[in-house]
Amino acid sequence: MRRISIFGATGSIGQNTIDLIARAPDDYDVVALTGASNIRQLAADARRLKAEIAVTACEDRLDDLRAALEGSGVEAAAGADAIVEAAARPADWVMSAIVGAAGLAPGVTALQQGATLALANKESLVCAGALMLSTARDHGARILPVDSEHSAVFQALVGEDMQAVERIVITASGGAFRDWPIEKLSTATLAEASSHPNWDMGQRITIDSASMFNKAMELIETKEFFGVRPDQIEAVVHPESMIHALVGFRDGALMAHVGPPDMRHAIGYALHWPERRSLPVERLDLAAIGQLSFREPCETRWPALRLAREVMETGGLSGAVFNAAKETALDAFIAGEIGFTQMSDVVEAVLDRLSATAGHIDATMTLDNVAETDHLARQAARSVINGKAG
Ligand code: NAD
Ligand code: MG
Repeated sequence: MRRISIFGATGSIGQNTIDLIARAPDDYDVVALTGASNIRQLAADARRLKAEIAVTACEDRLDDLRAALEGSGVEAAAGADAIVEAAARPADWVMSAIVGAAGLAPGVTALQQGATLALANKESLVCAGALMLSTARDHGARILPVDSEHSAVFQALVGEDMQAVERIVITASGGAFRDWPIEKLSTATLAEASSHPNWDMGQRITIDSASMFNKAMELIETKEFFGVRPDQIEAVVHPESMIHALVGFRDGALMAHVGPPDMRHAIGYALHWPERRSLPVERLDLAAIGQLSFREPCETRWPALRLAREVMETGGLSGAVFNAAKETALDAFIAGEIGFTQMSDVVEAVLDRLSATAGHIDATMTLDNVAETDHLARQAARSVINGKAG
């Protein structure tokens, strides 16, 4: 029996993870499940999977969670600290699928226990890549990428020598607005930005796909996780979302990872690694697909990609600035305070103010200075947003 915990269990990645676990309940001993406001789902899964503890991020929902778990024997807890405490419980395999910078502290805590961390929460690597990697190293823990592109790269690298890698190509569907006239983007509504052509994901990452902030984060994630130089990382628009990433080697070969857009592949790969086990994902019929296409990503349409290059060059805590500004701008777009294209204006303005100072911190990165940088960047983003709204 493997002891496993799922952080962000009620979300899109969390539910896909539970789908896989629930198919072989005798193989897993579930330690902790965490969620936020969806108490009903959290409690139902905790009961069904016989978890030790269920934790909601919402402190004011503890009574609701306790009531929903009445008689089940599952412990209940609430709040950000309780989530970190749950991450300190010994587990062999931990899914990090909270959305946003809130996923960082539980992930670091799980690594400190020596767990294998299946990492969907890309914000952890964007904000604190050096900290994540050094924590894993210091505690004999392992990080397995779950973002589909990074899982694809990881798989293409099995048995290869990193010295032979020339470049890494990350594909992007192009999101909801890839075919819109650029002039029309400023009028994009929340509903329009919240629908993805190929993938079924949480609302925040879906909007980030339309703005390409998701891909921007993935470029930074690639640099941090695989340790390649920024000039070795490329993005290409691939509307069919069948090729998830490609690795180019010095002999000119490009190894592509091809599969249907179903996160259960990347989650299942991380769950069973280093083995490959049968997974309930569609088998592709290449003749029926017929064609795969590729386009250059346009940085006028998607300024987030240009900003990601800046962050990769600056390094240090500039990723934490970038992520916090992006999260705040996204909140403001969802709240109707700013327009779709203003999100990248906000992030650029905050990077201009803060990134030079933040870029100096690297080897000395700690959860505290990441949190402090995150806080300063959110404040700066709020003041830029208030200026725009006012
Ligand atoms: P989601 O919005 O569907 O779920 C987010 C989860 O985090 C939920 O369980 C929610 O309760 C919890 N949560 C939200 N705010 C929280 C907070 N402040 N503290 C603690 N928990 C909180 O998101 P998702 O689409 O499942 O994405 C999760 C992570 O995985 C993100 O980092 C995303 O970028 C990444 N990811 C998702 C996909 C995908 O297909 N959905 C693909 C690649 C990477
Ligand atoms: Mg991805």
